[in-house]
Formats: sequence, structure tokens, C-alpha cells
Amino acid sequence: MNVCSKCGNPHVIIKKKSSGQILCRECFIETTESKVLHDIRKYKLVEKGDKVLLGLSGGKDSVMLLEILNSLKERHVIDLVAVTIDEGISGYREDGVRIAKLNTEKLGVKHRIVSFKDYFGFTLDDVMKKTSDQPHSRHPCTYCGVFRRWFLNRVAKEEGATKIATGHNLNDETESILMNYLEGNIQNLTRIGPKSESRNERFTVKIKPLREIPEKEIGLYVVAKGLEVHFAGCPYAGESFRAEIGSFINDLTAKHPTIMYSTLRGFDKMKPVLKKEFAEESHTGICENCGEPASGRLCKACSFVERWDEDKV
Ligand code: SF4
Ligand code: ZN
Repeated sequence: MNVCSKCGNPHVIIKKKSSGQILCRECFIETTESKVLHDIRKYKLVEKGDKVLLGLSGGKDSVMLLEILNSLKERHVIDLVAVTIDEGISGYREDGVRIAKLNTEKLGVKHRIVSFKDYFGFTLDDVMKKTSDQPHSRHPCTYCGVFRRWFLNRVAKEEGATKIATGHNLNDETESILMNYLEGNIQNLTRIGPKSESRNERFTVKIKPLREIPEKEIGLYVVAKGLEVHFAGCPYAGESFRAEIGSFINDLTAKHPTIMYSTLRGFDKMKPVLKKEFAEESHTGICENCGEPASGRLCKACSFVERWDEDKV
């Protein structure tokens, strides 16, 4: 009979194929939270006195991270503020914003909601409608990622945050490693890790405390804790290369349960060598339009806007 490996409780909720561990609800929650707190210490992701800005979409990853970072806030280790970025994806983002608000109100965490529309005057849906037939149109995730990074950095400065935390999990990180390798973006690989190593010192340091937690366990954690989260998928996600790589990794994991861990471990060993050979020079430029960090005259977000203006998109 299956009983919890830690306390003997017969009501088990998970048998981890990667480690053989069997856990009941309470021991699963405790083990998962301990693992994340252990990684935060191990990689020195936060220091006492840090003000952390959490990117809170309302999805399972960021809601789990809100719970854990809030426990550090309650112990007076860090100060915490959450930001939800409304890209303007009709029929999808509205519910995420509502759930993010609900979770921060429950915990008493300061919450900001910022939108593409308010800052830039367009939604992601507007951009895709206007650019999809243009020859140099990019995938929605490319625009979305560039503008979201811009917002995280901007809000971090407005709030005086010393770290930006995002809910990237083990699946996301393994996908990034494979994608960049397969696309030959070796310089991007040198920037993957638990803590960002930006080329521009004006960027606030980004941390990924859930980097070693598989997506499935995060799903189980929020259900086990009875947290309200936004489970719907983004309508643009299915079209991406990342989604293809994600389903490839899921297929592999079904047969080889430790494959994501070994990919990550192998990559972490290789990274110092990659950095030595391929790391780019750091730069300290600022965008002449918005004042955010930039390697050239404009930051990436403002370069897109300028091109759309020139093309009268
Ligand atoms: Fe943005 Fe792509 Fe994520 Fe949708 S899937 S929220 S478009 S990055
Ligand atoms: Zn700019």
C-alpha cells in the first residue's frame, strides 16, 4: 500500500517518478515550499532588506511564488510588491487581472496593474491586427516579451525594487535552454540562470525562485493549497516555437522522468565555459525616447514603436 514517505499518512497525492518519493498533501506542500526556500538561499536570490517586485499574471506559477515570497515578507526578510501587466489580450487577460487582485488583497500585498494601452496607447491585439500582414511582422510572444520586460524594469524603478521575481519553472527553463541551443543563440544561453546577468547595469536583477520546480508540481501545489489561479492558456501561445519544444519535453519526460533535471544540471555545468567564450560586453546606454536601458539609440520597445510609426501601421 502507498503511504506518505515522510509521515506514513495513507492519503497520498503524489508519487514523484523522478525521485520515487510518495507524499500526502501536507508533506507535499511542506517539501515544495522548503525546496524553493532552499534554492533562494543556495543561489542567494534575495538578501535581507531587498524590495522584491513580483510579476504576477494570476497564473499558477506566479500565485505560488506570491505565497512563498509573502512568507519571507511576513518574516521581515524582504519587502514585496506585485505587478500585473495587462497586455490587452481580449477574453484572456481580464480574468488573470481579477485573480491577481484577489490574491494580493487576501495577503495584504501592494499590487499595481499596468497596461500596454495606458502606457503605449495600443493593446497586443491591436498590434497583431495591424502588423500580421506586414513582411517583418514578428510572433506575438516576441512583442509581448519585449514590452513586458520594459514594464517590469520601469515599475521596479518606480517602486524602488532591488529585485524582480518571475515565476519561471523547470519546464520554462528547460525550454529556454533547448530553444536557444536549437536556434543557435549561444549568447542568449549565457544569460540563462537563477539570477539574471544583464548586459546593462541599469536593469534590475531578475530572479527565478521556481526554476527547479516542474510545472506539474506547481499545478498540484496550488490545488493542494486551495489557491485561486488563472488556468486558461493564452490564445497566442499555441503558435509558438516554445510550445512545440514544450510538448517535445513533455513527451520525453513521460519516458524519462529525470530528463529536465539532467538538462538543467548539465547546462549549469557548461555555462561558465560558454560565458568565458561568448559573453557580450556590458553596456550602460539609455534609450533616448523613454530613458530605459538600451544597447543602441532606442530600447527594443521603442524601436518597435518607431518602426510601426514609420510604416504607418
Ligand atoms: Fe504574451 Fe506569448 Fe505569453 Fe501570450 S503566450 S502572454 S502572447 S508571451
Ligand atoms: Zn525606450
